[in-house]
Amino acid sequence: MIRIDNELLDFITHAAKNTYPNEFAAFLREDEGVISEVVFSPFSIFGKNSSTISHFSLPLDTTIIGTVHSHPSRNGSPSEGDLNFFSHYGKAHIIVRYPYERGDYFFYSRNGDSLEYEVV
Ligand SMILES: [Zn+2]
Repeated sequence: MIRIDNELLDFITHAAKNTYPNEFAAFLREDEGVISEVVFSPFSIFGKNSSTISHFSLPLDTTIIGTVHSHPSRNGSPSEGDLNFFSHYGKAHIIVRYPYERGDYFFYSRNGDSLEYEVV
């Protein structure tokens, strides 16, 4: 079970809305078993049809446990590029689809399987 901070979800929603119609992308940081922070990579690409995050830009930091990115559409499923990226890195990957409300969050493992999550 993945646990994520309630205020962080609000922050991600806000960031995704502000970035719309482009994609928002960032890394996730875990603190004492709870995802509680997003970390922006200076190499992240914010673009409409971008593949979001290059695996060459991963921060060398063990508290980074995955990624989050937005889909400016109603599709909450990972693309082939997303799955390829997930497989390289981390244990939890969030996709939040338009319009970025609580029901629009999807959590995936590095294999692309759906993960249960808890808001704390
Ligand atoms: Zn995607």
